[in-house]
Amino acid sequence: MSFLSSRNRQLRRGFFLEGKLTFLWLFFYVTFFGTAYFFTPFISIPQIVSNSSHDVPIQPSNSSHDVPSQTLNSSHDVPTGMFNLSHEVLSETFNSSYEMSNNSWNSINDHPIRTSNASHDSLIQNSNESYDVPTEASNSTFDIANDQQDENNINEPPFRTLTDPSYTLGSKINNWDSKRAEWLRQNPAFPNLLTPTKPRVLIVTSSSPKPCETPIGDHYLLKSIKNKIDYSRIHGLDIFYNTALLDEEMNSFWAKLPVLRALFLSHPEVEFLWWMDSDALFTDMTFELPWDRYAQYNLIISGSSEKVYNDKNWLGLNTGIFLLRNCQWSLDLLDALAPMGPKGPVRDDAGKRMAEFLSNRPVFEADDQSALVYLLVMQRDKWDDKIYFEGAYNLHTDWSIATEKYEEMLENYHPGLGDWRWPLVTHFVGCKPCGNFADDSAEHCMKQMDRAFNFGDNQILKMYGFTHNSLESDQVKRVERIRNETD
Ligand code: UDP
Ligand code: MN
Repeated sequence: MSFLSSRNRQLRRGFFLEGKLTFLWLFFYVTFFGTAYFFTPFISIPQIVSNSSHDVPIQPSNSSHDVPSQTLNSSHDVPTGMFNLSHEVLSETFNSSYEMSNNSWNSINDHPIRTSNASHDSLIQNSNESYDVPTEASNSTFDIANDQQDENNINEPPFRTLTDPSYTLGSKINNWDSKRAEWLRQNPAFPNLLTPTKPRVLIVTSSSPKPCETPIGDHYLLKSIKNKIDYSRIHGLDIFYNTALLDEEMNSFWAKLPVLRALFLSHPEVEFLWWMDSDALFTDMTFELPWDRYAQYNLIISGSSEKVYNDKNWLGLNTGIFLLRNCQWSLDLLDALAPMGPKGPVRDDAGKRMAEFLSNRPVFEADDQSALVYLLVMQRDKWDDKIYFEGAYNLHTDWSIATEKYEEMLENYHPGLGDWRWPLVTHFVGCKPCGNFADDSAEHCMKQMDRAFNFGDNQILKMYGFTHNSLESDQVKRVERIRNETD
């Protein structure tokens, strides 16, 4: 009994002690893990973010050499249409692919657009050199969290001035061709050619991250992407729609430069990027590009060499639609154009020079099209042999001429011609469908955009036995299917 009671006491004491320890343990457990749990979101966000491709759009473009390694850790970036690619292989290849530039920026005196009376040569000089971009510029990256503040012009970094170091898309990338070739050798499941003559092509298009100024603008963007999806599906192309402003300095028509560069680096399996403006519509759904014609070329663009080189005409080519090969030459071309692009005084000044140098160009800020004509005229020997000015079919057709002829085309011709008889693309240059679409000329644009959309869409609908009531109508009626119902 006494034993028992003593044991019970011991047990009770033991229990008590154990109970105290349990309590202490519970207290410790709740305090430590509770606190840890409370802070978990804050602790884990950086990890989540750093592995997420959502970071990519808001990466400073000035550190875009980092994009591939981050991008390639993300499931969003499995090469287009592929599902079983080893990301490790990609990351490994890419982590070793970027050579940091040695900061070759020595003096602001080297600035290509330093003074207003600098020669035209100076506008594009040094464009192949690699620069480190000032901290100020790297703060200019588009940041969703700061969007509201940006709206109120708070936190907006000052514009780059003519005496600042010149703009770059990122650190200079060297030996891309051999690095990409090595990647392709190591990844035979992702060939850059789909057949011996057909390259792997990614259509790229883009619009502003913000809603259009009127709801009808967004409606036209929807029609525009539907049109491109249709063409891509029929021709076995992939498509990428960008809505991020990767670098705030490169807004508007310059936004395509950082997008193209990021896509080249993240998609070594893609042979050509096919840029399509958001205001360009496919109007020949069946025309296949003559791929074998382009085997030796890196840039395929609508235009004429005579208008570019002889006339120095800023309309001698059109940068709303073009194909650019994934190679060092193309990265160099983007690097050469980029210093003319940053918004503010640099872009304005470059625009003035372009207006002086190019024929019939009004004075306005530098645009990517004038910049390309300018660069080619200034450095013809460097670029010309890799450019194919396509004039045999209509990679670009000005809408104001094409849309008036649709009825005539329908009467006399058929899809698949791609040229003036049935243009591959109708481009609504100057219409700005996402802008403030409110005057008479805008109404005319809208009507013609509907007609162009329906012109292309009829070729799609016909496969399923339908057609638009008219080119002006969004309503459809039944027609004979291309294939017999019972086939
Ligand atoms: N763009 C973009 N983000 C913008 C504004 C324009 O990605 O904030 C793209 C869009 O694809 C547009 C292209 O840049 O089609 C060029 O602009 P636009 O077509 O208005 O120029 P235009 O052909 O009229 O000269
Ligand atoms: Mn356009």
